[in-house]
Amino acid sequence: MKIAEVHVYSHDLPVKNGPYKMANAEVWSLDTTLVKIVSETGLVGWGETCPVGPTYQPHHASGARAALAEMAQGLIGENPLQPLVMRRRMDSLLNGHRYAKAAIDIALHDLMGKHYGVRVADLLGGAVTDRVPSYYASGVGEPDDIARIAAEKAVEGYPRMQVKVGGRRPVEIDIEVVRKVWERVGTRMRLAVDCNRGLTTRDALRLSRECPDIPFIMEQPCNTIEEIAAIRGQLQHAIYIDENGEDIATVLRVVGAGLCDGFGMKVTRIGGLHAMATFRDICEARSMPHTCDDAWGGDIIAAACTHIGATVQPRLNEGVWLAQPYIDGHFDPENGIRIEGGHIKLPDGPGLGVVPDETRLGAPLASYS
Ligand SMILES: [Mg+2]
Repeated sequence: MKIAEVHVYSHDLPVKNGPYKMANAEVWSLDTTLVKIVSETGLVGWGETCPVGPTYQPHHASGARAALAEMAQGLIGENPLQPLVMRRRMDSLLNGHRYAKAAIDIALHDLMGKHYGVRVADLLGGAVTDRVPSYYASGVGEPDDIARIAAEKAVEGYPRMQVKVGGRRPVEIDIEVVRKVWERVGTRMRLAVDCNRGLTTRDALRLSRECPDIPFIMEQPCNTIEEIAAIRGQLQHAIYIDENGEDIATVLRVVGAGLCDGFGMKVTRIGGLHAMATFRDICEARSMPHTCDDAWGGDIIAAACTHIGATVQPRLNEGVWLAQPYIDGHFDPENGIRIEGGHIKLPDGPGLGVVPDETRLGAPLASYS
């Protein structure tokens, strides 16, 4: 089988009740990029990548599309049923830019699933659940507001809550946010405190030392691995790496050096589902809990995250974060991905099990054949 066509689309995803605030970003609307790959036999696979603004990671929407333009013509005629060979092919066409390659990788998995008549989760080793846990992430907000949201999410059935902090002064407000959330929900949900690179080592130490009684994990407290390494031994809380987990080599480095206890991981950051399965297996070998998230995006990336999330060993599964609760509408109005009771139903497939309504996307930005 050969790839006959590659099409690239963009689509605007407005943020419900925006903006969504993080330590280093405030977003009102997201610009997502979709990729459609068509085989010579007429099979279609969809992929997606959607950076949450240009400051969350060194990724941005226009960058993804420029990278796809660099690679797309070179994919025509290649075999879409060989994700490993295709990853090497993409690397031969462009260095880095894993977040753009991820959209192609996801489209290949969708197409492969349709070819073999199985779900993407089955291609990735097999689902261990069809009810995948999610978690809710608050934006950076006021203590009483975030505590109220946390209480609502506990009632909805979310097993985990991520509280966003950082990027503001003084850190006392962040400490108050964490304490009020803990007072409201206690052990009804597992707690993560995500600093999104936004704390100094001084403030990360202070946050941890002032909350020794609260069993949260601290995610990406500071900007660099070096800052985290400098305070790791003095913190009271387990550390997860998120934004710094740029690639498999970095994951191996931080696990090997004992610099973290788990990960927040993005399917697009690591390079797609093929790389994400490798990451999952590394984590399982070292008993590292982790998430299977994406930065943002619609039904395609949501389905991809849910399929890989369904394959994670349950004791290590920290959930699949989706943008769905924060955005209106679906690409696939019938089978779009939804969070219900804090969990996501694994789509039946074949492939990703979601099919965008192309009339909602308009004409492609670029087409290659
Ligand atoms: Mg995070």
